[in-house]
Amino acid sequence: MSEAENRPTNFIRQIIDADLASGKHTHVQTRFPPEPNGFLHIGHAKAICLSFGIAQDYNGLCNLRFDDTNPEKEDIDYVHAIQKDVKWLGFEWAGDVHYSSDYFEQLHDYAVELIEKGLAYVCFLNAEDTREYRGTLNKPGKNSPFRDTSVAENLALFEKMKNGECKEGECSLRAKIDMTSSFMCMRDPIIYRVKFAHHHQTGDKWCIYPMYDFTHCLSDAIEGITHSICTLEFQDNRRLYDWVIENVSVPAVPHQYEFSRLNLEYTLMSKRKLNLLVEEKLVDGWDDPRMPTIAAFRRRGYTPASMREFAKRIGVTKMANTVEMSVLEACIREDLNDNAPRAMAVLDPIKLVIENYPDNKTEDLVVKNHPSDESQGTRIVPFSGELYIEAEDFREEANKKYKRLVIDKAVRLRGAYVVTATRCDKDEQGNVTTVYCNYLDDTLGKNPTDGTKPKGVIHWVDAEKSVDATIRLYDRLFTVPNPAAEDDFNSVINPESLISIEKARVEPSLKNAKPEAAFQFERQGYFCLDNDIKEVGKLVFNRTVGLRDTWAKISK
Ligand code: ATP
Ligand code: MG
Repeated sequence: MSEAENRPTNFIRQIIDADLASGKHTHVQTRFPPEPNGFLHIGHAKAICLSFGIAQDYNGLCNLRFDDTNPEKEDIDYVHAIQKDVKWLGFEWAGDVHYSSDYFEQLHDYAVELIEKGLAYVCFLNAEDTREYRGTLNKPGKNSPFRDTSVAENLALFEKMKNGECKEGECSLRAKIDMTSSFMCMRDPIIYRVKFAHHHQTGDKWCIYPMYDFTHCLSDAIEGITHSICTLEFQDNRRLYDWVIENVSVPAVPHQYEFSRLNLEYTLMSKRKLNLLVEEKLVDGWDDPRMPTIAAFRRRGYTPASMREFAKRIGVTKMANTVEMSVLEACIREDLNDNAPRAMAVLDPIKLVIENYPDNKTEDLVVKNHPSDESQGTRIVPFSGELYIEAEDFREEANKKYKRLVIDKAVRLRGAYVVTATRCDKDEQGNVTTVYCNYLDDTLGKNPTDGTKPKGVIHWVDAEKSVDATIRLYDRLFTVPNPAAEDDFNSVINPESLISIEKARVEPSLKNAKPEAAFQFERQGYFCLDNDIKEVGKLVFNRTVGLRDTWAKISK
């Protein structure tokens, strides 16, 4: 398939095709406008893949613009984390990073223009009265008593607001639209408010800050955005978007298009709620691998390609829906199945002693990194007469379904010899501590010639040369599919969302693993080395995903 045929198609791309065909636009300019009030989540990844993906496919440009009009909730650390995440997903923004705050001066002038046209006024109703006057969905609003203040007086009052002569909450600048509109957002919305807050970009220069609905459309116009794509909750606000654009002298006319947001089962998809999890220490930070943030997925071993593939599979529509976790997991599993080198790790080790293996002998076995992709090469895995195997891979007796090691039965050790168990030692509680076996020395890469039929293949590591590792097994963070509906997240946290295995043994080649590099631990799943710099020098592996879909079972 050619690259063009491989492109996703959706209603927004159809609009763009039509706009280009009709000559309404000659190029495509999009933007991604995060508010720097938290880390980006996988819902944002969907929005990023859409706006940046369109720019890419249409040879257009996509701006990264921080929608930074709420200084109290914002933080420069979030500004940095967001840039890192967009880059990691594989996208490049056009030119420098933009900030809505770059336009505060222009936005102020546009507000003055509205006042001069008699389309904005300074209102002194307090918050409670403003709400009362606004009415409800069933009841029209009432005009503010300040609605008919003269232009000259409004200009002077707005100037006072700007100069810090008004208190927070004392007054606001409102657009004069229609207090009876069936769209609540059109009932004289506030467009500027007083806030004596330090801003991460503009410092203490401003004590009035523009509201989102006023800022966003004008920033789009200033940047020459042709298609301003956002989620459906802004559908009604499109009236206000268009009203502002029509009523001030903008350099270009942008249009807003809405699509349905991503909801993912068993996760929360709101920075505000994710922030609660962090603040209440229900998780270990924004990049805790159980979080649905891009940083957390990265730390968990997801690849940028798998996240882009996910965005492609879920598509872009106007239909509200909730995506099953198995869709996301299938994307990473398919990627890692092809691309992650194999390695061996024993999570719950017991000794395997090969009694007929020559004393003090060791071998360096050459093992393929990938069963079907020769290009991934080979590695050395040391072998000797004392190994570790998984406790669950041995039973003294078992029926035919158990295709692992059983006394008097044979299995193949992955990449090594065929062994037959003979006996075992147990501790006082009856747990097996050591299994004894004999090996067939002519079975390296060959079937036994003596008629022995190995029952299966098990993984192993060398007892002496393997190294200690901590392995973190992650599971869904919540016990309910829709945690957003809960009042108290504490009560729906999955107590088994993180199981930390401290005494795992892994093959020595993993000492050279790079943070975030993925591996398939044979028969266990996909894992990556944790990227937490506090843990440097310690081998901590995070489970990205199991080998098979366990979610299908859970949902049944
Ligand atoms: P949150 O409630 O998580 O803070 P937000 O919409 O307030 O989300 P912004 O930083 O304002 O977050 O969002 C930047 C862009 O990402 C917006 O255009 C928004 O429409 C889009 N977006 C946010 N959440 C989702 C989601 N779940 N699915 C798809 N797009 C989303
Ligand atoms: Mg927001």
